[in-house]
Amino acid sequence: MLLRRIAAALVAVLAIGGFQAVTAAPAAAAPRTLYYDASQAQEFKAVVNQGAQIWNSRVTNVRLLPVPAGSTPNIRVYADNGWPRAQTTSLGNGRWYMGRQAVNQGYYQPRIAAHEFGHLLGLPDRRTGLCTDLMSGSSAPVSCTNAYPSTTEASTVNRNFATTASVPAQTFIWSGSPA
Ligand SMILES: [Zn+2]
Repeated sequence: MLLRRIAAALVAVLAIGGFQAVTAAPAAAAPRTLYYDASQAQEFKAVVNQGAQIWNSRVTNVRLLPVPAGSTPNIRVYADNGWPRAQTTSLGNGRWYMGRQAVNQGYYQPRIAAHEFGHLLGLPDRRTGLCTDLMSGSSAPVSCTNAYPSTTEASTVNRNFATTASVPAQTFIWSGSPA
């Protein structure tokens, strides 16, 4: 009799738990907002904004917005004469550089900007050589003007921010063809 009561109680608890899980599921989380600071990107400010807008047009779980005055950005963007590169501290946080070494070799600037933002969104380099991949970076021909992530890359980013994936601190370097 006691066993039967315990079993009945367990069934009730499981039923309540199951009901809660089902009702909680449809509430979609608001997209996470990441603020970037392009004020130190020198002549590349416009293309940095373009890179952010490209991602905003392809993913739903994260938004890249210019940092409001007086606030601390998640992402700082710089420009220098080296290779474009990104240094992440965690998912969505870090810095990246618009490097003139790749710009001067003729790599398409919006593609560089969107690619480096891609690292901040948790994507590693994947040197597939394909222009249709954004994260193929410098392994695609210099003539490649695709600045948009593939559907696989976009869905990986959505998944990263659906769960707040854990991403180790890392540095990624563009490194194009030898000068
Ligand atoms: Zn890269």
